[in-house]
Order: sequence, then structure tokens, then C-alpha cells
Amino acid sequence: MNQLVEVLKFYKEIGAGFIETRTPDPLGDIEEINRLIMTCTRCSLHKTKKNYVPGEGRMRPDILFVGEGPGETEDNFGKPFIGNAGQLLDRVIERMGYRREDIYIANIVKCRPPGNREPSRDEADACLPYLIRQIEILKPKVIVCLGRSAMNFLLNSEYSIMEKRGQLFDFKGIPLIPTFHPSYILHQKTKEATSKAKWEMWEDMQKVLQLIGKN
Ligand code: SF4
Repeated sequence: MNQLVEVLKFYKEIGAGFIETRTPDPLGDIEEINRLIMTCTRCSLHKTKKNYVPGEGRMRPDILFVGEGPGETEDNFGKPFIGNAGQLLDRVIERMGYRREDIYIANIVKCRPPGNREPSRDEADACLPYLIRQIEILKPKVIVCLGRSAMNFLLNSEYSIMEKRGQLFDFKGIPLIPTFHPSYILHQKTKEATSKAKWEMWEDMQKVLQLIGKN
């Protein structure tokens, strides 16, 4: 109960109002939330990270991509999705008719879990208020969760990505579609499996484009 009270207090402190908030200065607000992230000690991940990775992109984007957490390259440079998985994501974004700077990319946790392990529930819970506030400020048209753990942490669920990829969910009034994490595609062992996973991700992205009205 004490933990819940602490979390609710923190939501209030950072102004997270569960999407109803309207803000006249989204850029100023996102800079403020990113400043708070850059000094955060709410979980032990801050002790082992090199850089905080708050996220980046444009205000009011058509799409907000949400990953699980920064990897090694992202930790080194403080930017989301810039390693091999990020390069694949860039190609997907381009094929959808966007540039990276047209959309927004963020993660469930803003500090790299050691050895790229999955964040714990406590770590995700500690960090989620930042993402919730980012979503409120950014007001994306669609949220795309990359991979099982991003989907489950954001939806507070225990779904299988194989079952739920491409399905439409609602996140506080915003359409949400889960799809594969680009690393999943990169780790396929055969050419056929890679092509299949890429095609399935592309099917999901076509649904995203339909929701935006671009397909
Ligand atoms: S992962 Fe999130 S909650 Fe944990 S220290 Fe980093 S910014 Fe804070």
C-alpha cells in the first residue's frame, strides 16, 4: 500500500494526469520531463547506466514507438534505438513514409538494465510515470509497442507477442498496436524465418498506417 501511495505521489509531482491534461507548450513540457529523468534515482538502474535515454522525436507525432529499454549503444550515446535494432527500425519507419525525426521513440525504462536483461516489474513501475507523462504531452495518434515486455508493461498484462501482435488495444484513449521488437527479427536463425518475421511486422505497420489514415 505504501508503495502505491508513493507512486501516486510521484505521478502528481510530475504532473501526470492520465491523458486528460492539455498543455499549450508541449516542447517545454517534454524538456521539463526529460530534465527530471536526467537526475532520476528512483530505481537502482541509475547506478549502472552510463547515460539516461529519455527518448527523442517530434511533438504531436503520428506514431510513438515504445521499446523495453536502452541497449549498450543507446546507453553509450544517450539516444534510443541507434544500434542494429535501431537501424532496422529506421528502415521500417522510412518504408512507412516517415523519417525518424517525424515520429517519437521512447522506452519503458530510461536506463539500461545490466547485460540487456529485461527490466524487473519494480524497475518498470518506477519508470512508467515518465512514459505516461511523455504520452500525455506528445499525444501521438498511435502507440506501437516493440516486443512483448514493452506491450505487457504498458498494458499491465501478460500476453504473448505471437498472439497479440497486430491487434488493436486502447491506451487511455490512444490506439495501441504491439509488434515484434526489431531484435527479434535480427535474431532469427534462417533466412526464411527472418523474412517471415519482417513480413509480419510490416503487416502490423500497415494497420498502424490505416489507423493514421495513410494506407
Ligand atoms: S530506469 Fe527510470 S526510474 Fe530507474 S533510475 Fe532510470 S530514469 Fe529513474
